[in-house]
Amino acid sequence: MRLIIFGAPGAGKGTQASRIAERYGVPAISTGDIFRANIKNNTELGQQVKAITAAGNLVPDDVTNAIVEDRLAQDDAQGGFLLDGYPRTAAQVHALDAMLAKKDNSIDKVLMLTVDNEEIVTRLLKRAEIEGRADDTEEVVRERLNVYARETQPLAEVFATRHLLVEVDGMGEVDDVTARIFAALDPIHAAKG
Ligand code: AMP
Repeated sequence: MRLIIFGAPGAGKGTQASRIAERYGVPAISTGDIFRANIKNNTELGQQVKAITAAGNLVPDDVTNAIVEDRLAQDDAQGGFLLDGYPRTAAQVHALDAMLAKKDNSIDKVLMLTVDNEEIVTRLLKRAEIEGRADDTEEVVRERLNVYARETQPLAEVFATRHLLVEVDGMGEVDDVTARIFAALDPIHAAKG
């Protein structure tokens, strides 16, 4: 299965992505994780994106697209994948379409996790205490939510038009959210064989 998990920062994408990946035997590919690992290891890419991610802004599309194309070329992604945090802009949607079309592939489903705005801010500030992410301060959280609303949220419409979008309620207990996701994706997985 080729999947995208989509939703506001703090909607629970990362947590659910690992569970989905395990159930369907596909790698979870998070562009945010890739950037954080590069920043931690102080690579050239890390140096390039450190200030951008710390401010809650988006890394330029060409940089992000190139990273995803490389990652999708790896062996473990040939049978399917789950993209978490990508695509985030209309240009990234087009780039992904082109990458997949080269291999005669396409996305099977886009899962959108919906969570109330207030709950999102609470979750992100709590995560800031636990994980100490540089981009989880209140000011940066607000900026990331703005960027999401402006650049990423409108993509839901694009995926809905393609009949790819499934919305799942991301509120409540993590296990309950997982159960809702599996209920939505199991039939698609079964149909793909
Ligand atoms: P995330 O862990 O998905 O919230 O991503 C953390 C940060 O990495 C974002 O706030 C952006 O600065 C950067 N980032 C992650 N994915 C993308 C993407 N698809 N396009 C641009 N920037 C991204």
